Amino acid sequence: MANNEDLFKQIIAHAKEYGYIFPSSEIYDGLSAVYDYGQNGVELKNNIKQYWWKSMVQYHDNIVGLDSAIFMHPTIWKASGHVDAFNDPLIDNKDSKKRYRADVLIEDHIQKIEDKIDKEIEKARKRFNNFDEVLYRQTNTRVMQYQMQVEDIRTRFAEMMNNNDLAGLKALIEELGIACPISGTRNWTDVRQFNLMFATKLGSVADGADTIYLRPETAQGIFVNFLNIYKTGRMKLPFGIAQIGKAFRNEIVARQFIFRMREFEQMEMQFFVKPGEELKWFDYWKQTRLQWHTDLGIPAENYRFHDHEKLAHYANAASDIEFKFPFGFKELEGIHSRTDFDLSQHEQYSGKKLRYFDAESNESYVPYVVETSIGVDRMFLAVFSHAYCEETLEDGSTRTVLRLPAKLAPFKAAVLPLVKKDGLPEIGREIFDTLKKDFMVQYDEKDAIGRRYRRQDAIGTPFCITVDNQTREDGTVTVRERDTMAQYRLPVSELTGELLKKMR
Ligand code: ATP
Repeated sequence: MANNEDLFKQIIAHAKEYGYIFPSSEIYDGLSAVYDYGQNGVELKNNIKQYWWKSMVQYHDNIVGLDSAIFMHPTIWKASGHVDAFNDPLIDNKDSKKRYRADVLIEDHIQKIEDKIDKEIEKARKRFNNFDEVLYRQTNTRVMQYQMQVEDIRTRFAEMMNNNDLAGLKALIEELGIACPISGTRNWTDVRQFNLMFATKLGSVADGADTIYLRPETAQGIFVNFLNIYKTGRMKLPFGIAQIGKAFRNEIVARQFIFRMREFEQMEMQFFVKPGEELKWFDYWKQTRLQWHTDLGIPAENYRFHDHEKLAHYANAASDIEFKFPFGFKELEGIHSRTDFDLSQHEQYSGKKLRYFDAESNESYVPYVVETSIGVDRMFLAVFSHAYCEETLEDGSTRTVLRLPAKLAPFKAAVLPLVKKDGLPEIGREIFDTLKKDFMVQYDEKDAIGRRYRRQDAIGTPFCITVDNQTREDGTVTVRERDTMAQYRLPVSELTGELLKKMR
């Protein structure tokens, strides 16, 4: 059984070998934390985006879409607070010359203590019948000590982050004895703030204000179009604006494959509500978004909420949906109650009124906003890593299979003539031509049928359709299911309907 680090390496290698993800600019030795999606990756990515877009825009009559530009007026980032406050605290190890995020070093340290708690509980669970975890946490001395440590570090850490106490962060790193994983030493520089936005120059902006930024989030494009959409769409509160698009962050530490990239894609929805109703909608969106994830069939124990102790400058409530990645539970999606901060700031900086007229109360006000924000790439990694599986079959052979949810799989079916003669390829082509009108299908006639099945398992195709001699006689084919490897026969005429039914 591979340990988690090995498993993660296998997943990365599999993504490359089967045309899902390549390092960017690979023939020039790559570009740090930038990746390209290959022939299968782009299909999975598009399907994730479509699944999100449908659930947001198609299924809600009060949510509409938007595609705003990446380049925006530079004052937007002043108003949003990104120029002054979109920073991460960085620290360098003087011996390895490696750079780290100070907050991530501390969070990883906390995670290690939490792992020890989990191990103690796992051991006790195996040892005692009728094991009561709550009681054990309250009575076992070692577990209680670990829990107190975690609580103490968390409280002080949150206070330091809230107060921007960089000296305190360094002192805490030293006190906890955190060492650089590369050099193994505790020889740290001071902690400094580092702005994550990429700046570039635009030819002809007036007043010498020619520095513009690659957007670090898609949200601001929504806020600055609030009035346009409210007016032209004749929207009524509560209503939402959804957008999918690229975002760019000059991340200090970007070493976890597509988990943390410098160029990535976000799916964000800003939900505008009446002031005072935001916490009700915050709870609604927390539950609705979690449901969206579990509807894919990935078991609920892989997700958890993490309510924020340190709130961003714009929020009055915030929670992450965390996913159990191969390297532990980490943020997959954020749900934030952003108050009226963004619209008010843009009112102030632009001098334009960004108000909603409430016909019932006959008053105008700046709406409050609840945001849901998820990275397409992180969602890709969640789905892909959960789907990856190496299994030993009854006959002792092994197979690698991607158990992707059928609605996200790049190809829904593969048509495979058993042999390359007796008219079977021609029938196969005909079936392919029929099925391709409704979903993505592959046609493959190379190699022995067993090897072709393995190839489809490895890219996650849920159904293989085999054309054999019996097909010529009675018009039926063999359908083989990826996960169970169960096989059954179906008339060709029923294939589209049956497969669509199964995928739904
Ligand atoms: P983190 O704490 O992991 O840096 P964040 O809290 O800064 O994330 P948000 O600003 O809330 O993230 O962005 C919303 C979502 O965008 C995240 O939940 C994540 O899915 C995605 N995301 C953010 N940064 C990156 C990145 N560098 N690479 C890939 N996805 C990202």
